[in-house]
Amino acid sequence: MAFAALRAVADLALPRTCAGCAAQPVALCEACSTELRDAMMTVATATRPTPCPEGFPVTWSQTSYDGVVAALLRSFKDAGRADLAPQLGRLLRSALAGLISHDPACAQALHAGQQLLVVPMPSRSSSTRGRGREPTVELTRSAVRATPPLVVCRALRVSDNGRDQAGLGAQDRARNLRGAMRLSGAGRARVRGRVCVVLDDIVTTGSSLVEARATLLSGGATDVVAATVAATRRRGG
Ligand SMILES: [Zn+2]
Repeated sequence: MAFAALRAVADLALPRTCAGCAAQPVALCEACSTELRDAMMTVATATRPTPCPEGFPVTWSQTSYDGVVAALLRSFKDAGRADLAPQLGRLLRSALAGLISHDPACAQALHAGQQLLVVPMPSRSSSTRGRGREPTVELTRSAVRATPPLVVCRALRVSDNGRDQAGLGAQDRARNLRGAMRLSGAGRARVRGRVCVVLDDIVTTGSSLVEARATLLSGGATDVVAATVAATRRRGG
């Protein structure tokens, strides 16, 4: 933790290179800013992994996981570039807006004057310790801000048992996560009777969202939907 804090201070003092291409000595170069703006201008769409796991929630993504957006997400999560939260949060907010304006469960809840519970995808505490921060929570706060019908609730926890999801295939990811999530105290108190919107950076195989949905439904959520910054597009067969 102390090391992460020291490194954050060092990052402030050292000259940076572009978080998108690492080629320019600026935080984000002109070319990468332009590509990011293009991603922002595209229309968010409903997305499904291929193959789509059973129990996968309705999920909207702003863009595909490649190019500058993929580089920025990696810099944000793993290279300490917390300063990218506003840009990436805008992409997530756009996906969230697309979801809310098209999803019947969200529309019905809002029509009935209910709040939507916005739930950041939980991180393993080992990875939070390693990074000294929780990128998905930062992204969620940046995306949602204080918009009255949306309330951020850290309703989910994920156990440290099992391996990091990175580098695992679809079946291993699903097996690795099964039963690994649980409701937090706040989740137990607030999920029942609510429509929950899970926010995450990327959807890949969909196994985290399947597990999040099952856990929130087990706590009495009436419906669970999701939005992500980006979606991995499988190429070829
Ligand atoms: Zn660049």
